[in-house]
Amino acid sequence: MIIDIHCHIWDETIIDGDLNKLLESIIRNLKCPDPQSVLNGSVERLVEEMDEAGIDKTVILAVDGYLKYRSKLDFKVYNDYVADIVENYSDKIIGFAGIDPRRGIEAIVELERCIEELGLKGVKFWTLTGFYPDSKEYYDFYRKVEEFNVPILAHTGLGPQYTYLKYCQPIYIDTVAVDFPNINFIMAHMGNPFTDQAFAVAAKNPNVYLDISAWESVFKHVPGIFVQMLQNARMTCGIEKILFGSDWPLFTHIVSQSEWVQGIKNLNVPEPLKQMGVQPFTEEEKKAILGNNAKKLLGI
Ligand SMILES: [Zn+2]
Repeated sequence: MIIDIHCHIWDETIIDGDLNKLLESIIRNLKCPDPQSVLNGSVERLVEEMDEAGIDKTVILAVDGYLKYRSKLDFKVYNDYVADIVENYSDKIIGFAGIDPRRGIEAIVELERCIEELGLKGVKFWTLTGFYPDSKEYYDFYRKVEEFNVPILAHTGLGPQYTYLKYCQPIYIDTVAVDFPNINFIMAHMGNPFTDQAFAVAAKNPNVYLDISAWESVFKHVPGIFVQMLQNARMTCGIEKILFGSDWPLFTHIVSQSEWVQGIKNLNVPEPLKQMGVQPFTEEEKKAILGNNAKKLLGI
């Protein structure tokens, strides 16, 4: 089973105000030749590209950026939007709620609504909007997450313009991962470029995972470095911690979903790395990255 743990979904009704500026900055930063490939985040396109790539299930993440970015929407609207899609594509799509824990009691109430009423299966933290995930102020929220037994996928690493980098360091997952050993945390993007931190946090905490989304550019342009990164993750954290993810639709102009899946299936260790002692990735290990690890984590 192939599972993409990190995707988004949007259209012009859900991306408005400052969120538009964010997408425009991504298009600029990535020098994207086809802005539509970033702006078109429709479920129809996603499912078509999943089918082409042979992806069985995709996790779509709502984001709550409304404490930082101006919008005419209420923050709950994105969660409803994701839940509607899940309802229509329940065999293929899994939804995570976007909730900013700074909302206090409102965050806890929304978590209950998202899990119990909307059937969402996890939480997305958009730390780049300006919060450290390890603040004790959020421990009531974490207690509720623990009660529901759902994972938290937290943004770690680089973000676009208009976002705050200091909050996105993987080290800020450590304290809360230690204090809540029953909550599984997924560090998005393997914390790129803070991979040393990300690997350290995932290595010592059995409940911390890494997703490989946003590595498409490295994979395409310097494949040897990508393999080296995966090797470092495998060696430091264990193969069971690495999850396939794409951050669809942000990088499809660099690597299609199909190419991304094939890239893992055909993962080859280049000769210079072999000479340094790097072992090939076995079929079992590739399957673990592509979906078996996520399957276990999501309980499917
Ligand atoms: Zn993302």
